[in-house]
Amino acid sequence: MTHQHPATAARGLQRSEALARAELLEVTSYDVTLDLASSEETFASTTRLDFTSRGGSTFVDLKPRSVRSIHLNGRPVDVDLLQRGRVPLETIEGPNQLVVDAVMAFRNDGEGLHRSVDPADGRHYVYGMSFMDAAPSIFACFDQPDLKAPYTFHVRAPEDWVVVGNSPGTNPEPGVWELGPSKPLSTYFVTLVAGPYHLLRDEHDGIPLGLSCRQSIAADLEADADELLTLTRQSFDEMHRLFGIRYPFGDYHQAFVPEFNAGAMENPGCVTFRDPLVFTSRVTRGQRISRATTVAHEMAHQWFGNITTPLWWDDLWLNESFAEYMGNRVTAAVTEYDDAWVQNAYARRQWGLLADQRPSTHPVAGNGEDDATAALQNFDGISYAKGSSILKQLNATMGDEVFLAGVRDHLHGHFYGNATMHDLLDSWTRAGAGDLDAFADSWLVTAGPDRIVLDRGTGDAPGEARLLRTPPEGHPADRSHTLRAATRGPDDAAWQVRELVVDAAETAYDVGAGEAVLLDPFEDTWAVTEPDPVTMSRLPDLVGSTDDPMLRAGMWNSVRSAFHHARVAPGAVLDLLEPWLVVEDQDAAVQFTLGWVLAKVVPLAADPAAASARVHVAALAAARTADAGSTLQLAAYQAAVSSCASTEVLEGWLMGRDLPPGVELDLALRWRVLVRLAVLGAVDRESLDAHLEAEPTAVSRVEHTRAVASLPTAEAKAWAWERFNGAATAPNYELEAAGEGMWRAGQEELLAPYVERYFDELPGTAEVHSGWVLADVAEAFFPLSSLDETTVRRAHALLARDDLDSSLRRRVVDTTDELEHRLAVVRAYREA
Ligand SMILES: [Zn+2]
Repeated sequence: MTHQHPATAARGLQRSEALARAELLEVTSYDVTLDLASSEETFASTTRLDFTSRGGSTFVDLKPRSVRSIHLNGRPVDVDLLQRGRVPLETIEGPNQLVVDAVMAFRNDGEGLHRSVDPADGRHYVYGMSFMDAAPSIFACFDQPDLKAPYTFHVRAPEDWVVVGNSPGTNPEPGVWELGPSKPLSTYFVTLVAGPYHLLRDEHDGIPLGLSCRQSIAADLEADADELLTLTRQSFDEMHRLFGIRYPFGDYHQAFVPEFNAGAMENPGCVTFRDPLVFTSRVTRGQRISRATTVAHEMAHQWFGNITTPLWWDDLWLNESFAEYMGNRVTAAVTEYDDAWVQNAYARRQWGLLADQRPSTHPVAGNGEDDATAALQNFDGISYAKGSSILKQLNATMGDEVFLAGVRDHLHGHFYGNATMHDLLDSWTRAGAGDLDAFADSWLVTAGPDRIVLDRGTGDAPGEARLLRTPPEGHPADRSHTLRAATRGPDDAAWQVRELVVDAAETAYDVGAGEAVLLDPFEDTWAVTEPDPVTMSRLPDLVGSTDDPMLRAGMWNSVRSAFHHARVAPGAVLDLLEPWLVVEDQDAAVQFTLGWVLAKVVPLAADPAAASARVHVAALAAARTADAGSTLQLAAYQAAVSSCASTEVLEGWLMGRDLPPGVELDLALRWRVLVRLAVLGAVDRESLDAHLEAEPTAVSRVEHTRAVASLPTAEAKAWAWERFNGAATAPNYELEAAGEGMWRAGQEELLAPYVERYFDELPGTAEVHSGWVLADVAEAFFPLSSLDETTVRRAHALLARDDLDSSLRRRVVDTTDELEHRLAVVRAYREA
């Protein structure tokens, strides 16, 4: 028997190792027996793995708590050979059988078999997250995307549990579940969802549908079941039409599971979603759109990812960019959320543009990642938002018919198999798209966005104005952009739209005196655009004069890019915000823009308190004038709470006094008020504890953590810090909330010691956190509110160390870049 803790188990699988193993092996089948009923800490896991080999040395991946026995072809293998998550194997030519009998640990970081206790009722819930390298902490396997095989699961579970997985199952006797054999699956999308889940079943077009969630939020799922199932049906019909291939994985179950790290995971037949997507308080339409596009995104993955899987993680755009593009497209085309692209413009565009401008930027395709663990950090705004935008461009270039024909050719050619970027490009060429090498060079394999801005020259002589195209620093490119501009001359009665091609460093552009010009507001291309000074000065007057929500979204994306680069002042953002709030009718626009202004503009203003007060007045006015009870009102009111400086007003709201008519303080809003009171130091720890005890739900626990960490006391900051460095343990959502709550503007003196401690103690967090949580915690606790050069110097000193964990390094690089940009805004506008 040997012992090993999963967190210290392994570096990632290297691409060269994966290639060698795929050369050697073909996997015939997995037969996995799990006992989830014996212990709350561990579970027995027996894997029988049949495979054929060319004969020779290889290894099996295994991250157990302990190993009972390993047999290869009937002969025992020394279990002490297990090292760093691998057991070396000497295979024979032809059929081989490996049997591994191990004890695995339930995890609480959202990976492997995650087990959690619902604080609302004490019930235990389990789900499997094999992505991206956690499968070996559930069962022994050859853990790489191109060794696919069918799976059979035999599960023993407590008798009041239900067990759902990648393939339909039976429940022959209480507590016993048999699932499979499944279709051929990659290890990274093998899952089980087990527990006393509330289960809903339905059917569409011969496909059995399921929804599930924790018992304590069952009523909330029931309330939205119609909406979710309708979205699912509509998306299936549209995807069947687009792909020309029927969904092949049997049942389609959508499980909302606790403490899930990502938005969702596309496991064939059994998609897992983070369960805050079962809405337990009122939400905006924007949040519903976001959930709908997530539903469609995961469905698109059943084709892009699950039927045809990237050969290696450097091509994860084949998964994510396609799912993102298809998720938005299908949601906008066939569901009630026909404005999905507008929501996407607010939620995703800047995420992608910022990621693409960081020092860590990488190409959409062929990101060059050779280490499976490091590749996790490329699940970023580039692989999703930029990749989706490039596919939209590609679709516009070759036409929808050729685009879809190529996609079908690709899926048919690699059914239940694996493929690369070049395979897909070849499919498109066969479908009639012509030679795509130049397109791929410019957009898929060259990192960074071009910047396109209007230069009016002196502004007097006609013909002097030009559009300037600047390629990304360090990534030479010569890209042709086809885009639209929205213009508004002083005498125009409405915005005009004109089409442009920008294919040189300078392009002549005919602009009238005083004409406002918004470049690429409809996201035709992928580029950073910024309003020139003349346009910026006119926007506050013009913003009310369009009823096109996409134009307003494009305006904000331009302004946000300019602000990021310190070319628009915080005050100018607020000058635009106030008249815009009066006319904006999309709640996603209000929610995202006010959230951005409060997080990033207000703290950098010359007088943050005064700036916050301006936002508060504008947001509260919007909440009072919006239709009573509307989601637009909800979005405005949320920001009014988070910007409120009056303890008296906040306490009144908590007691239901003076609320804007139509606003009801549900659990989420109540905690929003409490968090704000905590930031102001106007509530004590005992009172926060009492609120948690009164309604001890999962949401309450996370918000309670956020509130406690926000208190302006030394004890509160020490309490949050223990979660960062592992002195105290907490589940993933609470860890992040502690970090987000900790660094509050105006608490600099209390926080000062933690700036240095962050950079000293961060490397050690790799010993206590792992995977997603490790990187997310690093980002959540980064001292972004410590706006000075010393913090930047400390960050660079840390980055100079060569022993820093790669995912920590990536987050520190990105967050330091953000801090440097914020400092540049402060220098440009505060100290002048
Ligand atoms: Zn995805």
